[in-house]
Amino acid sequence: MSISDNLLAIKNRLPASCKLVAVTKTQPVEAIQEAYRAPHRLFGENKAQELLTKADALPADIEWHMIGHLQTNKVKALAPVVSLIHGVDSLRLLEEINKQAAKNLRVIKCLLQVHIAAEETKFGFAEDEVLDLIAGGRIGEHVRVEGLMGMATFTDNKDQVHSEFKRLRTLFEKIKSLPLPPSVAMRELSMGMSGDYEIAVEEGSTMVRIGTAIFGERPRQETH
Ligand SMILES: *Cc1c(COP(=O)(O)O)cnc(C)c1O
Repeated sequence: MSISDNLLAIKNRLPASCKLVAVTKTQPVEAIQEAYRAPHRLFGENKAQELLTKADALPADIEWHMIGHLQTNKVKALAPVVSLIHGVDSLRLLEEINKQAAKNLRVIKCLLQVHIAAEETKFGFAEDEVLDLIAGGRIGEHVRVEGLMGMATFTDNKDQVHSEFKRLRTLFEKIKSLPLPPSVAMRELSMGMSGDYEIAVEEGSTMVRIGTAIFGERPRQETH
């Protein structure tokens, strides 16, 4: 199957309410061009420099999402280019995004990453930290928190994956029902990757981030 066949097959399996972020980390520009011709316009990278290099080499109508852990010192370069930052996991990072967005006279959309997996190593806020952050009134006017993002445990245990995504969905609905500051609007729930996106969709995902199921195995192993 070609990249465009894979894209089409996945899109056909997603409800219309669910967006597909094609994850292109470590993939060559040629692979992205093939997806672009499919046509696909929404791509995700997990490293700031790689995103910038690819954005430079590819058409300007591509929407670039930063999906990985983001260091504050990378925000400045990313700010003019990125359209959504999925992995915001600290107030400090959110403040830096706000500052750099202001310098670029724009509002940058962000998702708060919530730690839902059993694994210790994943980044993200605890659920009560997310609630505190939203209630805290310290979110600047140059960021807009559009929703939540999470990664389930990497396991064959489907019940566990279901229950982790369900917890994130429940938190999302809970926040949605609260009085929210102007810089927060719960509309996106980014969850689901190649191995678990069908479960994520059943649990209410509005945005899946899929790499290997579109492009095949990655040419080299990503590092953090
Ligand atoms: C790499 C990555 C993905 C995509 O993973 P696949 O298993 O290749 O679909 C999704 N989300 C994040 C945060 C990633 O780093």
